[in-house]
Amino acid sequence: MKSTSSSRETSNSGSHRMMAVVTSPKADGRSLARRVVEVGGSSLNFDYAHFLPSSPKCGVLHGHTASVRVGLTGRLVDDMVVEFGELKDILRSIINMMDHKLIVSRKYVKIQDGRASISFRGIGGEYMIETPVASIYVIDSESTSENISAHIAALIRERMPENVSGIYVRLSEGLNKWSISTVDAEPYG
Ligand SMILES: [Zn+2]
Repeated sequence: MKSTSSSRETSNSGSHRMMAVVTSPKADGRSLARRVVEVGGSSLNFDYAHFLPSSPKCGVLHGHTASVRVGLTGRLVDDMVVEFGELKDILRSIINMMDHKLIVSRKYVKIQDGRASISFRGIGGEYMIETPVASIYVIDSESTSENISAHIAALIRERMPENVSGIYVRLSEGLNKWSISTVDAEPYG
């Protein structure tokens, strides 16, 4: 038979839009309460260049300004999921790695002697770009907003304490276009 706290948790989990799920304290006094915290704002904006060879519009080298909003679901430790300042510092360190870089899938990149040679067939024909390695940010897949937000979510997951159980990253590609990637979480807002 389920305990009171777990059955409440189960019934509350259906209302995934709730900003907090409250459960009874465990017998040993440790709280099972889970909360959602969320950060965003202009300090989490960044600029990037990319290309998507198979896209009829994005198959040319071009850039976007991205804005990022991140939510975490987690168990409370000392009445917090995470310290907001700590979370923002972690997010800025991740975003700084990508800011003003060409975000590119590794399948288009060859690196030699500190230089990156990038080639792809896009709108209008062949593109050949040679650039210092420091000006690119390589990811495993095409640099769609879906894949960039998933990459950011995975990097956040690596840096979070064990009480954080879910992460979502909402990333805009320019104005009014958003992708949401989650790690064990429902997207909020
Ligand atoms: Zn684009």
